[in-house]
Amino acid sequence: MNASTPGNLWIVSAPSGGGKTSLTRALLPRLKGLGVEAAISVSYTTRAPRQGEEEGVHYHYVDEARFVGMIAAGDFLEHAHVFGRRYGTGRERTQALLAAGVDLILDIDWQGARQVRAAMPEARSLFILPPSRAELERRLRGRGTDSDAVIAARMAEATAEMSHYAEYEHLLVNADFETACAELTALFLAPRLAREAQQRRHSDLIADLLRP
Ligand code: 5GP
Repeated sequence: MNASTPGNLWIVSAPSGGGKTSLTRALLPRLKGLGVEAAISVSYTTRAPRQGEEEGVHYHYVDEARFVGMIAAGDFLEHAHVFGRRYGTGRERTQALLAAGVDLILDIDWQGARQVRAAMPEARSLFILPPSRAELERRLRGRGTDSDAVIAARMAEATAEMSHYAEYEHLLVNADFETACAELTALFLAPRLAREAQQRRHSDLIADLLRP
């Protein structure tokens, strides 16, 4: 095998409650089992870590001054305000992973998706929808400790994010977890089997097979 094939860049967006995090986390070991190296990009954010979150694993947590400095230095592939906080994707790490042949997932919102599409038109994109409004609300209620007003605000944010679904190349409805995982795996595998990608990956083999 020739190792010089770059990885695919995948933009994945969903409303919170869409199941994006569990699906993309479940995807990685499945792809690994099929010989495909994939990773979820670790963004920078100015929000504080939540319980159980770790620096460098869930996010790189930075203050406003550092974030603004990174914007000025051109360190971000994209960045946006989401729910009053700043979020951004580091340019260098993204490029290094893709160059190493890793399929990279950007878990970003619609604003970031637009910027990445503009900067890297070869990026592929997927929007994940919940199976119904009722199910979305059930997922947003979580443990049932939040007030109706908080839930209504979350539903409004989710609706605003979902209103951008048509800007994405692929659409997945997350009704059944196993089915959605299988669909996601198929989606990530398909472009890897494109003839041109395979020709690059297996050039030695093809040359050998076609030896007169
Ligand atoms: P949370 O704070 O709940 O982890 O994420 C809130 C929202 O910010 C999610 O919809 C997520 O997709 C989005 N987000 C996370 N990282 C980035 C990023 O680097 N860029 C952009 N544009 N959005 C992000």
